[in-house]
Amino acid sequence: MARYLGPACRLCRREGQKLFLKGDRCNSEKCAVDRRGYPPGQHGQGRPNSSDYSVQLREKQKVKRMYGLLERQFSATVHKAGRMRGRAGENLLALLERRLDNVAYRLGFATSRSEARQLVKHGHFLVNGRKATIPSFLVKPGMKISVRPKSQEVARIMGAVETLDEGSLPSWLELSKEDFEGTVKALPSREDIGMPIDEQLIVELYSRY
Ligand code: SF4
Repeated sequence: MARYLGPACRLCRREGQKLFLKGDRCNSEKCAVDRRGYPPGQHGQGRPNSSDYSVQLREKQKVKRMYGLLERQFSATVHKAGRMRGRAGENLLALLERRLDNVAYRLGFATSRSEARQLVKHGHFLVNGRKATIPSFLVKPGMKISVRPKSQEVARIMGAVETLDEGSLPSWLELSKEDFEGTVKALPSREDIGMPIDEQLIVELYSRY
């Protein structure tokens, strides 16, 4: 699956807020949003475009980049959310949160979603005891996500688990740090997604097409 290979901090600066794409660096004084809080490029400090379309586009780009998806995958998720019961915007966020790479990140097995995605692809995780290597796999309530016994010695995973602030764990997940195992207690609700996101803007953007 293709993925964005350019500078991650540039994406945060474009969206004007921290998207937490680079692990520990995001909470350090090296964070580019803290140091240069204006969009990148020659016209970065010019007047921003505030048309309806531009506002909707920026919201979509922010969420897409936060979860590390490219356009095709993101738009497929938006359309899937629209076909589900309930509000399309909330369904969209729930689908993004339930991705295995996001769950591994939320459980603290990685310091960023992109790192979690790489670890998933490299086969470091088990879902209900079976190896899972697809980052877009959607977890369901009752599933157990664990680090493969051999992978519990991997420095990146150990380091991430050691520095995890358990207070930041969302209420729909439960973690047993000693066992390197998390359980999905429920489907994520809108309140579980801490980032300031106006999902309705994204739904409105896609309804234009
Ligand atoms: Fe974004 Fe993290 Fe870079 Fe800061 S350090 S700009 S939060 S990716």
